[in-house]
Amino acid sequence: MVKQTVIELEDVWAGYESDRVLESVNFKMEAGDYVGLIGPNGGGKTTLIKVILGLLKPERGTVRVMGLSAEKGRHFIGYVPQIQQDDKAFPIRVWDVVSMGRLKPNLLQNLLLSEVDKAAIERSLRQMDILDLAKRPINELSGGQRQRVTIARALASDPKILLLDEPTSSVDSRSSSQLYDLLAELNQTISILLISHDLTAISTYVKTIGCVNRRLVYSGQKEITTEMLETAYDCPIDLVAHGLPHRVLPHHYEENNHD
Ligand code: ADP
Repeated sequence: MVKQTVIELEDVWAGYESDRVLESVNFKMEAGDYVGLIGPNGGGKTTLIKVILGLLKPERGTVRVMGLSAEKGRHFIGYVPQIQQDDKAFPIRVWDVVSMGRLKPNLLQNLLLSEVDKAAIERSLRQMDILDLAKRPINELSGGQRQRVTIARALASDPKILLLDEPTSSVDSRSSSQLYDLLAELNQTISILLISHDLTAISTYVKTIGCVNRRLVYSGQKEITTEMLETAYDCPIDLVAHGLPHRVLPHHYEENNHD
């Protein structure tokens, strides 16, 4: 059976005024994929997200989301941004946060939630296993619970693709593995693109992995290649192995190179 292509970038170059951040990026993601993209800070991960969401127009190249332009296709993407610390200061209930995922362009239409909206909100809360928290203010929740609320908000729009930016940056390791278990379940029906600077955290969970650092190294495989590490750490791998302190290396790399 031919799989549907959900995201496709062809020879994409993008950046800001004189600062070119992405060079010749080619990327294809199909329905059912669960892709993890890693890369160092400043390597262009957020820029890539903006390009996929149609918020930044590439200088060159094409972006297709569900076969449409990025601007039109982004309605099929449930975007989960990084949690901001001030989010938790805002005294709003979980249900209301998730209902934002159902916002419509026409302001008047947002005054009342339809039965379909309510069912979608409830389904998303269930999917993230937080229906019991629906009436709680978000400022009373733990980091892990708040992150689930953010994902539920993205799910409420009934997306075909979930795009997550550093989903576990402000959660402890236990909540983080619970979150990844939930994402694995969601992946049975939704394609997932997860972006992180933390190679060790995601390499265990995703189906395929790539690396962004101006260029994108991605061949649709689970293995972390030498080319990816060289791209991520901006130096030949021999230099990394012999010259740099191990703390800059992902654990995965250290474990495989100790003997
Ligand atoms: P990452 O998400 O991997 O940390 P970014 O995509 O945020 O990387 O940033 C890549 C580069 O683009 C950095 O050098 C950053 O300073 C620059 N950059 C990001 N956003 C802007 C912007 N709005 N205007 C100018 N430069 C930017």
